[in-house]
Amino acid sequence: LERLRGRLARSRSGLGQSLLGLLGAGELDDESWEDVEATLLAADLGPEMTAELIDTLRTELAARAVRTADQAKQLLREVLIEALRPELDRSVRALPHDGRPAVLLVVGVNGTGKTTTTGKLARVLVSNGHKVVLGAADTFRAAAAEQLATWGERAGATVIRGPEGADPASVAFDAVKRGTEEGADAVLLDTAGRLHTKTGLMDELGKVKRVVSRQSQVDEVLLVLDATTGQNGLTQARVFGDVVDVTGVVLTKLDGTAKGGIVFRVQRELGVPVKLVGLGEGPDDLAPFEPAAFVEALLS
Ligand code: GDP
Repeated sequence: LERLRGRLARSRSGLGQSLLGLLGAGELDDESWEDVEATLLAADLGPEMTAELIDTLRTELAARAVRTADQAKQLLREVLIEALRPELDRSVRALPHDGRPAVLLVVGVNGTGKTTTTGKLARVLVSNGHKVVLGAADTFRAAAAEQLATWGERAGATVIRGPEGADPASVAFDAVKRGTEEGADAVLLDTAGRLHTKTGLMDELGKVKRVVSRQSQVDEVLLVLDATTGQNGLTQARVFGDVVDVTGVVLTKLDGTAKGGIVFRVQRELGVPVKLVGLGEGPDDLAPFEPAAFVEALLS
C-alpha cells in the first residue's frame, strides 16, 4: 500500500484530493456538484460512471447526514470501492492444471507495455518457484523479441522466438508445445499489437488464438492498457474485446497519470476486472489490483 501510495502521488492531487475538498466542505450547492462532476470527468471516469457516482454520493450524503470531513472521506471511500466491484475474481490463472501448463495470451496495442508486463509476470511466477516458457509471438518487430529475450534471461524463463517476420501463430504454437514438453507451469505469449485495422488484428491475433486453442485451453487473455491514454485506451480495449475474449486487464503506467479514473471505467465498459497494475518500468513494478488499497491511495 505504501508503494502504491507513493506511485500514485501525482494522482492524489487529481481525483481523490479534489473530491475530498469538495465533499468535506459541508453543504453542497448546485455549483459544488458541478465541480464534483467536472472533477470526475477530468479524471476520465466518463459520463455514465460520473452520473452514477454523483447520484450515489448525493443520496448517501443526505441519508447519512454527513457533516464532517472525516465522514465525507469515509463515504467517498465506500462509494469508490463499491464502484470498483470488489467482489470480482482478480486472480490470474497462471497455474497448471490437468497436467498441462496454464496458457496466457498477453494482448494490447504496441507501446502500452505488453512486453514489459509479460516479463514482469514471468519474473513473479519464476520467483514463486514456477517454471515458465515465454513465446515471443510479436514477430513484426525484432526489438520486441529481443526485449522479451532479455526479460526471460533475467527472470530465468525459457524464451521461444522465431525469425523476424515469422508467423506469430507458429511461434505461439512452438511455445505451447515446448511448455508442454518441458512440464512448464505457465506459457506466456507476448503478441503483436499492430492496430492498423480491425481485420488486420483479427487475422493476426485471431489466428494465434485459434492455433493455440487447438493445442490447449487458453486460460487467460490479459489486455494491456496504458492508463495515460484515456479515451483512446478504451476505444482500443473495445476493438480487442471484439477479437478475443479478454479475461482480465493490466493497467500500465499508473505511476504516470493523474487520471486514476480510467480504472473505474475500463471495468465497467469491458465487463472484465482489472487484475494487475503497472507502477513503473522496473522488474518489480507489477502489482495485483486491490480496489480498497487503490482507493486508499487515491484518498490519502
Ligand atoms: P509493448 O510495445 O506493448 O510491448 O510495450 P513495452 O513493453 O515495450 O513498453 C513500452 C514502454 O513503456 C517501455 O519504455 C516500458 O519501460 C514502459 N512501461 C511499461 N510498463 C510501464 C509502467 O507500468 N510504468 C511506466 N512508467 N512505464 C512503463
